[in-house]
Amino acid sequence: MNKGTVLVVEDDKAIQNLIGTTLEIFDYNYLISSNAKDGILKATSHNPDVIILDLGLPDMDGLEVIRKIRSFSLVPIIIVSARTDNADKITALDAGADDYLTKPFNTEELLARVRVSMRHKMQSTQVQPQNNIFTNGNLKIDYAAGCVYVDSAEVHLTPIEYKLLCLLAQNTGKVLTHNYILKEVWGSTLASDIPSLRVFMATLRKKIE
Ligand code: CA
Repeated sequence: MNKGTVLVVEDDKAIQNLIGTTLEIFDYNYLISSNAKDGILKATSHNPDVIILDLGLPDMDGLEVIRKIRSFSLVPIIIVSARTDNADKITALDAGADDYLTKPFNTEELLARVRVSMRHKMQSTQVQPQNNIFTNGNLKIDYAAGCVYVDSAEVHLTPIEYKLLCLLAQNTGKVLTHNYILKEVWGSTLASDIPSLRVFMATLRKKIE
């Protein structure tokens, strides 16, 4: 059974091959673009379920690509980048990316990210049965609408930040381990994901505080 279509925007042939082969083995359809312009074109014409985007492309900065795609689509975008600086990651998430992987990454990490993004996409199109509202101080989560408000102003969260916030809200007053959070949010317990988690917590905190 085909699990969905992934658009891979990456100019490095070796990484294109690695990602393409991995996706094929695990029954995903995939399309490859070697530059930003072709990537944006394929994002509009093929309506992929997930985009894997390299930040270092020959013709345009990856951040600009995220902004362009976000102007017409909410498709989950997973960044792959050799940039290890947390500030770069936060900038990418702020620009509208959903998740990121730092090169070099292993295929297990990649597949975990793709699975989570596909799941988010399906969840966001499902109708929630109840009109549940969570409030704590000036924070309000409307589960039915998938919206978050601080002091009645809506806050835009990426799907992962939203999932993290819901998890924290469900466990108010409890101390959650990194492993527990990783498992609930990404379905993984890889120790290498802990730095990612810290970045997501930092961007989430910045948005809701
Ligand atoms: Ca590159």
